[in-house]
Amino acid sequence: MNAEIRERREMVGGTSRGKKKGHPLLRWSMKQESFSHGFSQSDLQALSAICDAIMPPVPLQSLDLDMKLKVLRNDALLSFFKSSGSHVRPDEVAEVMATKAMPLTVTVVRIVLRLLTFRLGTLLLCGFVCLDKENWSPLLLKFSDISLEKREKVLQKWNTQWYNPLARIAFMMIKAIFLFYYFTWTNENTENPAWDAIGYTVDIGEENENTEHKERPLEKGIIETAKEDDVTAIKQRLINKGLKVKEDKETNALKIECDAVVIGSGCGGGVAAANLAKSGLKVIVLEKGNYFVPRDYSTLEGPSMFEMFEANGLLMTHDGRFRFMAGSTLGGGSVVNWAASLKTPDAIIDEWSKDRGVAIFAREEYTAAMESVCERIGVTERVIREGFQNQILRRGCDKLGLDVTVVPRNSSEEHYCGSCSFGCKTGDKRGTDITWLVDAVDSNNAVILTQCRAEKLILVNNGRRKKCVGVTASSTTTSNKTVKKIEISAKVTVVACGSLMTPGLLSTSGLKNPNIGRGLHIHPILMAWGYFPEKNSEFNGAAHEGEIMTSLHYVFEMDSTTPNITLETPALGPGTFAALVPWVSGSDVKKRLAKYARTSHIFVTVRDEGVGEVKEGIVKYKLTKADEENLVTGLRRALRILVAAGAEEVGTYRSDGQRLKCDGIKEEDLEEFLEKVDAPAGVVSMSERWTHSFTAHQMGCCRMGKTEREGAVDGYGESWEAEDLYVCDASVLPTALGVNPMITTQSTAYCISKRIAELMKKRKQD
Ligand SMILES: Cc1cc2nc3c(=O)[nH]c(=O)nc-3n(C[C@H](O)[C@H](O)[C@H](O)COP(=O)(O)OP(=O)(O)OC[C@H]3O[C@@H](n4cnc5c(N)ncnc54)[C@H](O)[C@@H]3O)c2cc1C
Repeated sequence: MNAEIRERREMVGGTSRGKKKGHPLLRWSMKQESFSHGFSQSDLQALSAICDAIMPPVPLQSLDLDMKLKVLRNDALLSFFKSSGSHVRPDEVAEVMATKAMPLTVTVVRIVLRLLTFRLGTLLLCGFVCLDKENWSPLLLKFSDISLEKREKVLQKWNTQWYNPLARIAFMMIKAIFLFYYFTWTNENTENPAWDAIGYTVDIGEENENTEHKERPLEKGIIETAKEDDVTAIKQRLINKGLKVKEDKETNALKIECDAVVIGSGCGGGVAAANLAKSGLKVIVLEKGNYFVPRDYSTLEGPSMFEMFEANGLLMTHDGRFRFMAGSTLGGGSVVNWAASLKTPDAIIDEWSKDRGVAIFAREEYTAAMESVCERIGVTERVIREGFQNQILRRGCDKLGLDVTVVPRNSSEEHYCGSCSFGCKTGDKRGTDITWLVDAVDSNNAVILTQCRAEKLILVNNGRRKKCVGVTASSTTTSNKTVKKIEISAKVTVVACGSLMTPGLLSTSGLKNPNIGRGLHIHPILMAWGYFPEKNSEFNGAAHEGEIMTSLHYVFEMDSTTPNITLETPALGPGTFAALVPWVSGSDVKKRLAKYARTSHIFVTVRDEGVGEVKEGIVKYKLTKADEENLVTGLRRALRILVAAGAEEVGTYRSDGQRLKCDGIKEEDLEEFLEKVDAPAGVVSMSERWTHSFTAHQMGCCRMGKTEREGAVDGYGESWEAEDLYVCDASVLPTALGVNPMITTQSTAYCISKRIAELMKKRKQD
């Protein structure tokens, strides 16, 4: 380990409050000296040379007066500006990349790094900048031998060169992963030296003897399969719960019989499990993620994202424009989401029930279902204290005379934790893990198998239509890596793996309906930012503090003809912020990060017409012209709101770092700036400027339809192709929704599962 790295590790700062550290899986464990990344030493040298150029040391004299004064008053900021990217071990960045990122993007990074280890490869990717003009022997330099200044220039070119796609994709990936790691990594005392510099604190909560030993809410119904060494132990526990189980010792396999198997435990699966179990059916819930409770949450952005999000939070659309955020833990998205609990708009209920003829959305029953859902998860509209970003959204709207609405949430009026994206440490947000799944387990009819991945539905021929009679799953034991096979026979099978995973399970099981995997909507997002220095500011707090969403502005009110454009505020930890922030130079990225805590964001989402498809793990998605126009309309409105609220500077996430200083600005200047705001393409495009954003609302890729041609499932969620097979998650929604989808997903699941319970009851009576 070199001296600079040691210095970074030994620096104390970046405090986290509290003594508890959370579950080991939710903390960094990068202690090993051997890595599995497969990059060679020369690849790592090239990687380190890139990281160094992304975050070079920044001389004090290059800072403006305000920043200089801040730096001189703050030692942490001083060492932040002095530090460089090479302080981070390239092995660690490479390990995160190789083990967490999408394999295709890792391959691109490998190719580029390997080329950069050669002089000719460097010439090919960087051009004549690698000519050593001062010293004519050797003539060409490999990347790591080029001066820091020139390396930074190379990165600036890669950023814009659409005709050099390998370099641009590799640059984007390395920048995102390296900066994410830089700002999320912690030492064993949960400290990161950069946090003090950027004003970030992590509240990991006080050690509390009572909560430490309190039984977990799902204890009596949970079997954490990866913890069990052999299937016999699991078998015994299932028998104790009244299920019929057979064991095959030779194949380390279990055969379980139940009435209903629910695959996935998120917004859809959680509700379905509760309704089916409460109706008296013996239910098994399969969830591939782990079970965590509030005392486990570390609220550390890096490890929590990797552990609790689908594909480590790094799945992107094929063009790199949107990155998907979806929960993958017991409770699914409901555990990591931002608690906004908006009911399905009337216009959408009408569109789905009348225009599309989807039976489940019959007005009266569906509205009653929404009421039951909101009651169970304790939705409130009261807010006692608004956080920094929401105060700004509200004030900006007020100043412009725009309506601003309170966001109803499934957390209490006092809730003020800004880290619900990594599990609500206060236990206040009511995800399915502390509501519906508890109901299921408390009925004594449900068993939840965690760390257990459903692999294939069991379909048998049954005349013209198939019949689903269960599912096969597997679980790998953590200690000895043995694989346990689990076969579940069920009278009814409910798939609720979320929109990114449900289509894959259906199609690998042999279902052929063309709507499976098609028609994906994502509520695309673009973000605006505004910087609000502390001095003389009416807004207190920091961007990462407080309830994530409490204010909302609709650019157009929702009705069936106007596409909805919504402005809300996000939770952006420093890692995500750093990964997304446009990189235009090393000093610029440091200055932007130094302003992290006082940079407020507003994001625009639109009810998208554009559709995508999920096929074999690849997600393709394309916006329509109208979607792009709506995004631009929303983005311009968001920027106006930030300016009206008093931002010193505002900007977008376009790769050229588009921004505007607002001090003393005239309306014409603002207009001129807003005119240039657009909806850039992704990194893989023939366009100089690009953007990278996230989306958290996936829906519609196994939609309900009146006929087999219109939907993957019928108007009650049942597969057109296989009897007794239901889909019960956001993927059944017929179109994009236009508002945050949790309540709609739960209410839809409520209606589907209530009907299944009735049918099963009838079947038993007949
Ligand atoms: C960061 C974030 C913030 C959000 N904020 C909001 C918000 O404020 N308000 C709102 O309304 N919505 C919000 N959402 C969206 C909302 O949470 C989702 O729309 C909702 O969770 C979707 O429910 P679902 O049942 O379709 O899937 P999920 O809730 O994602 O559940 C799917 C579950 O299935 C499991 N699974 C997948 N494949 C398998 C398999 N093969 N075997 C076993 N298990 C499997 C997954 O691990 C996961 O736990 C947010 C989402 C995210 C990620």
